[in-house]
Amino acid sequence: NFGVFTIGDAMITFNPSVKGPLRYVSSFERKVGGAELNFAIGCARLGLRTKWVSRLGGDEFGRVIASFARGEGLDMSDVQLMEGYPTSLNFKEIREDGSGKTFYYRYQSPILTLKPEDIQPAMFDGIDLVHLTGVYLAIDPQNIAIAKRVIQVAKERGITVSFDPNIRLKLWSIEEARKAYFDLFPSVDILLTGRDEIRLILAEDSDEALAAFAEQYAIDQLVIKDGANGSKLFTKGKWHEKAAFPVNAVDTVGAGDGFDAGYVYGYLHGYSCEERLVFANGIGALVTTVSGDNEGLPYLEEVLPFIRQEAVIER
Ligand code: ATP
Repeated sequence: NFGVFTIGDAMITFNPSVKGPLRYVSSFERKVGGAELNFAIGCARLGLRTKWVSRLGGDEFGRVIASFARGEGLDMSDVQLMEGYPTSLNFKEIREDGSGKTFYYRYQSPILTLKPEDIQPAMFDGIDLVHLTGVYLAIDPQNIAIAKRVIQVAKERGITVSFDPNIRLKLWSIEEARKAYFDLFPSVDILLTGRDEIRLILAEDSDEALAAFAEQYAIDQLVIKDGANGSKLFTKGKWHEKAAFPVNAVDTVGAGDGFDAGYVYGYLHGYSCEERLVFANGIGALVTTVSGDNEGLPYLEEVLPFIRQEAVIER
């Protein structure tokens, strides 16, 4: 079985009991969120051995997150609860069309106690792929140094590196984000990015410009996620494209993280370019049909019939 490594923060998410502007919502459901944690759960539900490196708040909410992640079967040997660091919170607003907005209450994240020297080569034993996201980079400039250390160890061991910019302009400016991304791009084997996001980063998104970008930075696989339009992949000089699965989307948050988990699964299992996109599109679509950031992440046995059924309709 393949091993995946990811590193990042987790938060408590308060989901509104009703749709509409947050100021009219007076009751919430407590959930657990975080881009890398969602990705890790997505991987674990597909059956990948998944290591999540993190530092959690040494408080009641930190315990909630730890129990939750443990329950999902993640390798928690490099997750610690840090006394004196409160868990960060965020409140969701869900609009009638299923789109959402997030309001963050992020303090000194416990993950800031993780230092570059905490990244030890032994953490990468049995790991086939390292996945990083821009959320982790955005939290603190120190995390960029940690990400570089992770990449350095990964490269030394011939481990594939995937990256999702997951841009959060509430955490840093586009200039800061671009600087960090362009610094990492030459080390990235698989870049998984949203269509709007890559347009922000590169200021263009034509197929020609994207292909030139991938070639310039030697990005082996450039994957563009485009919501209800599906996704496409540029690799080895060629574009591959697959339409999205038609679903009734109720909450699109987390679709991208689930897609990433699906793509990585397909890549590790030697799927063809088209098969990888179909599999990842299937997971992204399934995630949007369930409210919550990670509740909709499917188990392997749910994805396979879903994508097979749609493939029949496609023909
Ligand atoms: P986020 O960071 O908000 O999760 P993203 O930009 O990384 O978003 P999206 O493009 O929104 O990712 O979604 C990822 C994938 O999920 C899409 O490529 C598509 O396959 C699937 N998906 C998303 N929204 C829909 C939808 N409305 N209908 C069908 N499939 C969808």
